[in-house]
Amino acid sequence: MPAHDVLIIGAGLAGQRAALAAAQAGAGVAIMSKVHPVRSHSVAAAGGINAAISVDDDWHSHAYDTVKGSDFLGDQDAIEVMCSEAPGEVMHLEHMGVTFHRNEKGELDLRAFGGASMKRTAYVADITGQALLHVLYEQLMKHHESVERYEEWFTTSLIRGEDGDCCGVVAREVRSGRMEAFTAKNVILACGGAGQAYKPTTNGLIVTGDGIAMAYRAGAPLMDMEMVQYHPTTLLGSGILITEGARGEGAHLLNAEGERFMEKSAPNKMELASRDVVSRAEQIEIDEGRGVGPDGQGILLDVTVVPRRRTLEALREIVNLGKDFAGVDITREPITIRPGQHYIMGGVKTDIDGRTPIDGLYAAGEVACVSVHGGNRLGANSLLDTLIFGRRSGELAAARAASIPMPHADVAAARHRDERELEEIISRPREGRRVSEIKNELGELMNGKVAVFRDEEGLQAARETIERLKAEAQSAWIDDRGTVFNQDVLGAVELGYMIDCAETTVLSAIERKESRGAQYRTDFPERNDEEWLKHIDVSMNGAGAEVSYSPVTITQWPPEERRY
Ligand SMILES: Cc1cc2nc3c(=O)[nH]c(=O)nc-3n(C[C@H](O)[C@H](O)[C@H](O)COP(=O)(O)OP(=O)(O)OC[C@H]3O[C@@H](n4cnc5c(N)ncnc54)[C@H](O)[C@@H]3O)c2cc1C
Repeated sequence: MPAHDVLIIGAGLAGQRAALAAAQAGAGVAIMSKVHPVRSHSVAAAGGINAAISVDDDWHSHAYDTVKGSDFLGDQDAIEVMCSEAPGEVMHLEHMGVTFHRNEKGELDLRAFGGASMKRTAYVADITGQALLHVLYEQLMKHHESVERYEEWFTTSLIRGEDGDCCGVVAREVRSGRMEAFTAKNVILACGGAGQAYKPTTNGLIVTGDGIAMAYRAGAPLMDMEMVQYHPTTLLGSGILITEGARGEGAHLLNAEGERFMEKSAPNKMELASRDVVSRAEQIEIDEGRGVGPDGQGILLDVTVVPRRRTLEALREIVNLGKDFAGVDITREPITIRPGQHYIMGGVKTDIDGRTPIDGLYAAGEVACVSVHGGNRLGANSLLDTLIFGRRSGELAAARAASIPMPHADVAAARHRDERELEEIISRPREGRRVSEIKNELGELMNGKVAVFRDEEGLQAARETIERLKAEAQSAWIDDRGTVFNQDVLGAVELGYMIDCAETTVLSAIERKESRGAQYRTDFPERNDEEWLKHIDVSMNGAGAEVSYSPVTITQWPPEERRY
């Protein structure tokens, strides 16, 4: 039975950075991913990564912008860690081989991004995630003697020992269908977000909330789950992302009357206000009948105001996306976009070293809630979050591994349980609803009722529907009865994870009776610091979900009104 000092679930940027840090600290490391590591969703990241690198910049300014962007829900001690360590991390990546864009003087070039008081986003054209991920993967290959890679292995659950510590996982090899239990002194969850609980979303098919749900089921609390980010520029229909880098380069947002409507809600920052503010402004234009496209559900993004040469150099991927998915040459005409689900600020509650309240269990990246993003994440702060907290959790897990023996838990019992569960799904009769139907209904429900604007009636309706979908999922059927690459059965497991994420999101959104960041309640339109300057934590107890609160850490920036 495999046993490792540090077992990392997820091989996106957070997981690979954790693996590298733990290996460099001398631990025996394993990294597991349900897809090949460089197909992890981090590969899709486009616009860049924030760091106060410029000589005119200061990490305190980056931290203040992040606190303000979070609508003062972010924990300021964690934000200070992230922003103060950012320049060192970006330079480290550069030294490892990331070919960040340089300006004519040969210095690292920086682009403007939403909510930032100056240009501080380092980038590799609009393929930054791909550039970072490939360089980290090369580094992992260099450590092949101390880093075992379980590529195309799907984790089904976490295992806790008799003392309550996390001591391993159960996983299924996707290629063969073989189930295995893994013992580990430490498990780091780096499984990414849960965007597929929404339809449409900018997130790929693999982003199904697995880590969040596995931690929740194992007893770890989730935090800030109501905070779901809608990105202002996603293609109408498909939901494909048009990077904020476009607005960073100067693109305008226009309504059906050709008006730059951001003047009304963010006269100073205009299109580069924080994402929650821009998405809301767009939705208001659409709801009040000034939208464009089919049923007036879109807004125009005008990239033609950016010099064509610059667009072709710095935004070449979205030039291709525009042509391939909307039939539009963005260098010559505006493209129709709308706000779309993009990111979840909430996740597994951790401290500034990735520790969860369960000993031996860590989380980093989008799966985690440290919380550096609070009510709203600033663009280009997520790649930073994955790397800083991935590294910190890898280092801490390696240090812990050096001081404890390998656990002796009965991991085989957990393997048998999960094996039986998967066999039961495969053998279900072909009657009732299919997994795919339930997934579609869930996604459309979340996008309809738990989106940019929310209210009690819609949230309660969502809660009831999720209850029904949860029951239906217990007997939902799949086509594939085989073992080799049976993605169908894994889809059924993922559906359960997404339902847990959706349920905790809705519960938290019902609980928070105010408007802050990405949570805008039309029935409670004001931010209410007196009652709601606190995190909402959701834990699973025997009877179901239990809600509690935890304080927001404020170090140097007392809450104030947000204006852009
Ligand atoms: C289109 C797009 C563009 C973006 N652009 C930017 C940007 O420019 N700047 C920025 O800061 N942020 C950006 N973001 C956000 C950012 O890319 C993500 O938040 C971040 O990359 C998440 O990284 P991660 O390591 O946490 O997870 P991921 O990269 O999603 O990796 C998750 C890993 O977990 C594995 N996994 C999941 N479940 C299981 C399981 N059950 N068993 C085994 N393995 C599992 C997956 O295989 C994968 O390896 C963008 C997001 C999108 C969708």
